[in-house]
Amino acid sequence: MPKIPHCDRCLNNAHSNYLVCAMHPEGARGDSCPDFADDGQELWCPDGYKFVDDQLVKLPVRYETNHEPKLTRSQQLQIFMRHPVFTGLCPQYCYEYPSDRLNWNCPICGWEG
Ligand SMILES: [Zn+2]
Repeated sequence: MPKIPHCDRCLNNAHSNYLVCAMHPEGARGDSCPDFADDGQELWCPDGYKFVDDQLVKLPVRYETNHEPKLTRSQQLQIFMRHPVFTGLCPQYCYEYPSDRLNWNCPICGWEG
């Protein structure tokens, strides 16, 4: 009987090409070994993966993000109430943007958005 996957993590592993271990020289019968003694070492796994119940599991991808708002709530509300992207009008109320506008700069007063 050959080695089973658990043999590589067993304290009884003989690390020999001719002998599996002293208790089961020819290997354990079946898919598991009654004398398995975990060596306590963590299995190597690639970045972004983790062993869960002897199964290699891909961890969700996480990105470093900074969601701290740069503006206060009232500044955000001010933009929301006056920016032409929401109103369609220049904040100085001197120009109504066409629907095919290319940017939010006002051609009349020079406001830049
Ligand atoms: Zn304007």
